[in-house]
Amino acid sequence: MAHQLPDLPYDYSALEPVIDTQTMKLHHDMHHGAYVKNLNAALEKYPNLQSKSAEDLIRDLNAVPEDIRGAVRNNGGGHVNHTMFWKIMKPKGGGDPSGPIAEVIKKAFGNFKDFQTKFNDAGVKQFGSGWVWLAGKTGGEVQIISTPNQDNPISQGLFPIFGNDVWEHAYYLKYNNRRPEYLAAWWNIVNWDEVNNRLKTFQSHHEPALAGR
Ligand code: MN
Repeated sequence: MAHQLPDLPYDYSALEPVIDTQTMKLHHDMHHGAYVKNLNAALEKYPNLQSKSAEDLIRDLNAVPEDIRGAVRNNGGGHVNHTMFWKIMKPKGGGDPSGPIAEVIKKAFGNFKDFQTKFNDAGVKQFGSGWVWLAGKTGGEVQIISTPNQDNPISQGLFPIFGNDVWEHAYYLKYNNRRPEYLAAWWNIVNWDEVNNRLKTFQSHHEPALAGR
């Protein structure tokens, strides 16, 4: 099989009480599991695409044959998004960001509180299923965006520094229809070290000042 479901880096119960055990089980095993299974099924008749990473597939969807493009967009996106999602959370995470991400947020949004407000607002306003992101642009700037379904900023030429899943499957068992409550609580499990790792990757590829070094 070309693509595999990664293990969670912690127990299903590790993110309690912010994300409940049952949601983590369903979300990881069933939802992410299905994206991986369906991505592999879509690629079955295209062996030459099976060695490509899921990121590379969704980075250039026009290069994907038309008959599987939708399946790759949704399931490849679902695989990439959730692989990031598990890693950018951790038990006893959260708090104020530190390191380079703290500086980036301060520079672009003034302070962490204002950034959180704007990020949560974009998550609330994403109609239906989707994601809210801090995305990096060529040139090194960052912006908050939301995407529908499993679309990833990579497909728009942006770098996904981190994002939160606002599909109902991510929160409905515990928060029911109260998406704003989930978005507010989620900051308590953010893994800023991993966010800084991702930011480093973005900066080394996209900031002209750094790329030239
Ligand atoms: Mn999800």
